[in-house]
Amino acid sequence: MTQKYDIIIIGAGAAGLMSAIEAGKRGRKVLLVDHSKKIGEKIRISGGGRCNFTNTNTHPSKFISKNPKFIISALSQYTQDDFINLIKKHNIKFHEKKLGQLFCDESAQQIVDMLLLECQMANVSLKKAIIITDTGKQGDQYFITVGSDKYFCDSLIIATGGLSVPKIGASNFGYEIAKKFNLNIIKTLPALVPLTFNEKILAMCKELSGLSLEAIVSLNKICFEEGMIFTHRGLSGPSILQISSYCKTGDNIKINLSPKLDIFKLLISEKNVNPKQDINNIISKILPKRLVHMICKENDVGGHISELSNKLLKQLSNSINTWVINPTGSEGYRTAEVTLGGIDTNEISSKTMMSIKNPGLFFIGEVVDVTGHLGGYNFQWAWSSGFVAGQYA
Ligand SMILES: Cc1cc2nc3c(=O)[nH]c(=O)nc-3n(C[C@H](O)[C@H](O)[C@H](O)COP(=O)(O)OP(=O)(O)OC[C@H]3O[C@@H](n4cnc5c(N)ncnc54)[C@H](O)[C@@H]3O)c2cc1C
Repeated sequence: MTQKYDIIIIGAGAAGLMSAIEAGKRGRKVLLVDHSKKIGEKIRISGGGRCNFTNTNTHPSKFISKNPKFIISALSQYTQDDFINLIKKHNIKFHEKKLGQLFCDESAQQIVDMLLLECQMANVSLKKAIIITDTGKQGDQYFITVGSDKYFCDSLIIATGGLSVPKIGASNFGYEIAKKFNLNIIKTLPALVPLTFNEKILAMCKELSGLSLEAIVSLNKICFEEGMIFTHRGLSGPSILQISSYCKTGDNIKINLSPKLDIFKLLISEKNVNPKQDINNIISKILPKRLVHMICKENDVGGHISELSNKLLKQLSNSINTWVINPTGSEGYRTAEVTLGGIDTNEISSKTMMSIKNPGLFFIGEVVDVTGHLGGYNFQWAWSSGFVAGQYA
């Protein structure tokens, strides 16, 4: 059997659903296919089940790409306010958690349901559990083959996402199609991912497992001040996930475990005012006891502060205000929230998301070399790029 659509979209995640809605609203005959049995799984599990669906501070500077200017057009064609208005239209209640991050009050499933309802209203044909065995171009038509059926279209939109969390449907399908059509791919890597360390640091992390605190984590001039958590595999928490998108094995990451206080200044003043105080007790007023115990042990210090040289106090302070560590790797795609790299933006029109070499072929969402910071930016990119393709496909 053969069938003809105006547009076929592969991948019914955030970007694919948005582009299907927009194209359907324009009266285009749209087929949206996904190999998963359940639609919108990443949305459903996102933001701890509440979906951090956008960020009020959305700005191109919150994204990583070989070509940062590429992001500007899509973000201005469909802004965070446009998505917020859609949410309001569907009476989905939401709140700002922190740093402009917007979450559903109740459940991420509300976003999935909203997108599915919008698809229905726009007459989108949605097919789940579809295994595509071939894709290509015949004359000026694109096609996909599913078993013995062949579906043709004028425009083919690739919205198959990145490689993170393969157990809920991630695949390299989008990159394979890009290769087939001779598009360059920027090397892909897990991002927004917990970091792993050598045995010595790992032993510390294990001992402190579960302990969390606010920290400034920096690499050269890039820095993030958010929560950090010690785990039995290494370090995690928002500030670590954020820096993971920028760092590579062996880089010197600096961690300030006491962002609000210069520990050296404090210790010198305490040494003058209360020389008989125990060093452990002084620092325990600022940092969790388990951490203080570990830091003092590592620096081999203890007892009255008056007995410790200023040089030793400086060394101790540095291990709190400028702890330098080198990641040996990350936990990989299994736990990464996103994929860094992807389809080279030089291959795509920023205004339409269409391949420059292959008219009618579009790439949107995470499969493209655009990666947002943590905080709702990745969904905003999916909505914006999906909207844009939906206008032009
Ligand atoms: C645990 C977790 C939590 C997250 N939380 C947030 C958050 O709160 N805020 C935020 O902004 N971002 C978050 N993200 C990132 C965000 O989910 C992604 O950036 C976003 O979903 C990307 O949208 P997409 O449509 O490009 O890809 P996806 O949403 O991944 O959708 C791709 C779709 O393509 C389908 N597909 C793949 N291969 C094939 C194939 N061969 N054939 C057919 N279909 C295929 C998949 O089944 C999937 O449905 C989170 C990610 C994870 C893993």
